[in-house]
Amino acid sequence: MTMDYIDVEDRLGAHNYKPLDVVLTRGEGVWVWDTGGRRYLDCLSAYSAVNQGHCHPRILAAMIEQAGRLTLTSRAFHNDQLAPLYEELCTLTRSHRVLPMNSGAEAVESAIKTVRKWGYQVKGVRPERAEIIVCAHNFHGRTISIISFSSDPGSRDGFGPYTPGFTVIPFGDADALQAAIGPDTVAFLVEPIQGEAGVIVPPAGYLRRVRDICSAAGIVLILDEIQTGLGRTGKLLAEEHEGIEADLTLIGKALSGGFYPVSAVLSNSEVLGVLKPGEHGSTFGGNPLACAVARMALKVLVEEGMIDNAARMGERLLAGLTALRHASIREVRGRGLLTAVELHPEAGGARRVCETLKRRGVLCKETHDHTIRLAPPLVITAEQVDWVLEQMDAALE
Ligand SMILES: *Cc1c(COP(=O)(O)O)cnc(C)c1O
Repeated sequence: MTMDYIDVEDRLGAHNYKPLDVVLTRGEGVWVWDTGGRRYLDCLSAYSAVNQGHCHPRILAAMIEQAGRLTLTSRAFHNDQLAPLYEELCTLTRSHRVLPMNSGAEAVESAIKTVRKWGYQVKGVRPERAEIIVCAHNFHGRTISIISFSSDPGSRDGFGPYTPGFTVIPFGDADALQAAIGPDTVAFLVEPIQGEAGVIVPPAGYLRRVRDICSAAGIVLILDEIQTGLGRTGKLLAEEHEGIEADLTLIGKALSGGFYPVSAVLSNSEVLGVLKPGEHGSTFGGNPLACAVARMALKVLVEEGMIDNAARMGERLLAGLTALRHASIREVRGRGLLTAVELHPEAGGARRVCETLKRRGVLCKETHDHTIRLAPPLVITAEQVDWVLEQMDAALE
């Protein structure tokens, strides 16, 4: 049975992914089951889109209820789920304005458009000259404009011509940001922790310095919290670890509760105020089904203590990984339940370890060649963390 699904995907699908040999059919909390009835602990959480755990019963109920009542109106009319989502998001994140979209990449694109317009209208940047500073090894999505400033050849090569207007600096280097700012700079776009790059945690104090530099230069600080946000690092937003507030914050992934794509641009300044009717939009953005799902996804995150659990279980996981004594481990790093084990280049590759972990009932995915990311749903228990550590220990033998 399993081989049929894989064979059909291989013959009929575009080959833009290279999945592990496992066909999943059911999920509940941290667990997923394959078509043969084998159970696995999901340590990828759909790249942090399933922070609340698979098929969370309260999000499921909210989705079913809303799906039977009203699903899509377009923004040509108001619906009775959008305003409550705005209110709840603004209260929770102390934001002033929200722009609802669908995918993470759309939230990033929306931020890029907004800060360009803000640059021309408010900052007085010369027409067509707006420049956005970004970091090397970033991951912000897959659209043409976003991959135009990617430093990963696999993401970028062969997709030109590229969108101009981006300057790339090293991640974690505040002096490089200071040096890169010019008269046409409108914004700095950065991930608080680089997820796809392999869970790269910047030096302590980096975000605080970045915040000060952006404020002093009068440019917009855009934090892409699509992966780090909504509890993943043990805080609602990763910016809280350094006590700062971005001007624009991008969220997505777990805003869906794993059910239905929802993303948002959150604005703490008046930057979103530059968008006027007709200047930006999305047919599905802000639809009542998405809003009802997102509202419950946020509610369970807070009410069920998932953010604190991520902090406590993340510490346990990181301490346990750090205590593993294997010659193949080069570095263990992370914050909250966003953790990674980087192997030495001569260790035979992260993919091989992921295959072994799969056979032992743990699903995770390598990032690049030598790094294994461990990011289980935020509902994981201490016993489950310890069990994952045992499997990791055994897989690295
Ligand atoms: C996943 C991700 C995105 C893109 O989100 P999609 O929903 O896949 O478009 C953008 N930024 C970061 C940091 C991400 O992890």
